[in-house]
Amino acid sequence: MNKQADVDHIPFSRVVCDGRELELIREVLASGWLTTAGKCELFEGRFAAAVDATFACAVNSCTSGLHLALEALGVGAGDKVFVPTMTFTATAEVVRYLGADPVMLDVEYGTCLLDHAALRAAIAAHPEVKVLVVVHYGGQAAAMTGEGETGLLDICRRHGIRIVEDAAHAFPARHRGRMIGSIGDITCFSFYANKTITTGEGGMVTTNDPDLARRIRLMRLHGIDRDIWQRYTSDKPSWEYDVLAPGFKYNMPDINAAIGLAQLERAGLFRDERERCARHYFEALQHLECIDLPVLRERFEDHAWHLFPIVLNGAAPVERNLFIERMAEHGIGTSVHYKPLHRMTYYRRRYQLEPHLFPNAEKIWRGCVSLPIYPALSDGQLDRICASIEKVLAT
Ligand SMILES: *Cc1c(COP(=O)(O)O)cnc(C)c1O
Repeated sequence: MNKQADVDHIPFSRVVCDGRELELIREVLASGWLTTAGKCELFEGRFAAAVDATFACAVNSCTSGLHLALEALGVGAGDKVFVPTMTFTATAEVVRYLGADPVMLDVEYGTCLLDHAALRAAIAAHPEVKVLVVVHYGGQAAAMTGEGETGLLDICRRHGIRIVEDAAHAFPARHRGRMIGSIGDITCFSFYANKTITTGEGGMVTTNDPDLARRIRLMRLHGIDRDIWQRYTSDKPSWEYDVLAPGFKYNMPDINAAIGLAQLERAGLFRDERERCARHYFEALQHLECIDLPVLRERFEDHAWHLFPIVLNGAAPVERNLFIERMAEHGIGTSVHYKPLHRMTYYRRRYQLEPHLFPNAEKIWRGCVSLPIYPALSDGQLDRICASIEKVLAT
């Protein structure tokens, strides 16, 4: 490959690790405790404080967290769970892990979020559904609460539906002043390599409910009751423990927690830098009529800005796929969030899902492109991205 082109390339995503991560990893290696121990506990405590949650349980991915969340809420074979179609497959696959079935919902054009009217209609059509998984798409909070019971949480409470929040994009984010992670029944965060903070692979589950927290903690590590184990260690041999359920192996190793602790220290800084990118895009792209920019329901500073999704609308002279190819020729990496789940072979076939059932998701899918948004992007690079967009759209 051409070296020069390599230097000029602007990737879609890039992590920031400045050495603090290494410092904390060294402490873990020196301690001899590589699996879940002190660093993990510290990370859980600090994360809980950061999102104003009572309990935080570190796991090895957001996917594991979502699985644990639904298990703790009692989702089982034959049950149904509402899931938006505009999300990553993890949001829906965990429903299948438990033998339950996802009921796919369309989202609002502009925000890509579930809105209260769609939820009300879905509840009327599927009164048997007991759990909703809501996705804070792109890092903007869905309307959990609202005036006159228009909030998703208000509607669910009235119908006895529990809410799990897929906050894989939404750390740190607020909804009407409250931190995401402190609002619904259970919230799951992702620390996958390209998320707003990373542990390499990892996730966090938060809740304010002590019973749910206890169940999640139990099932995270083989169903071994650690509390009982700890209580009895003083007068029983250290090898003895009890198994209360067939749990999972979803714990977060201390090496990953060390990276998480270092990232958490700068999470606010990272968010501010992504907000700078978002403001730059709004400023530079708002005059382009063939692009629909993301619609804001929350304040700029309450958005985690994990993604900056634009939609090429009907007026665009190039189709989405060609646009992405042309941007790549300009040395700019982009992505798509998402090809909706109702278009994925497994879900489409199993649930006979037709595109016309999801008009907004279809309209988004046809034109959606996610632009680079991360702290390391300089204003000069942002200018270059915007200039390339203009050029590609002028063809
Ligand atoms: C990344 C992502 C997940 C899965 O996160 P992992 O930590 O990789 O398991 C789930 N939901 C959404 C919306 C995501 O973007």
